[in-house]
Amino acid sequence: MPSERNKAVFLDRDGVINREQSRYVTHLEDFIINDGVVEALKIFRDKNYLLIVISNQGGISKGLCTKEEVDYLHLHLQRVMSNKGIEISEVYYCPHHPDVTNCICRKPDSQMLEKAMARFNINPLQSYFIGDAERDIEAGKKAGVKTIKVEANQSLMEVVGWVE
Ligand SMILES: [Mg+2]
Ligand SMILES: [Zn+2]
Repeated sequence: MPSERNKAVFLDRDGVINREQSRYVTHLEDFIINDGVVEALKIFRDKNYLLIVISNQGGISKGLCTKEEVDYLHLHLQRVMSNKGIEISEVYYCPHHPDVTNCICRKPDSQMLEKAMARFNINPLQSYFIGDAERDIEAGKKAGVKTIKVEANQSLMEVVGWVE
């Protein structure tokens, strides 16, 4: 009997979960959950996917926002979703920006996905990465998960059927 592995839907943050603002989203008033997100995440949840956010937050490295502000937004996101019966297992983010410091976690690298897959015992072959940027898709491919490219702020309900 093979040991059971989990499956996950990995989600980019800005432009997928919340409104892409063409600037770093660091304050609650700019953090607007996109239409269709709650409905889509409930469908993924009901299909037994873990929900994990994978985000580049280079504004931290650039000094445009603090880690505390970003952590606060993520706590807020997890609480809002939890109130709707949706568990976001974890939010992984890269605080670095290549203008300031190089790293191996920033998308299009796949280190955040690999960390998540190790921690939550996730089978990449049954998992997806939904993102609105080419670097999301690249990161997903490197990690061996299926990828779904959306337009920034497109309703996830339009692609929900792509997740088996
Ligand atoms: Mg994005
Ligand atoms: Zn990084």
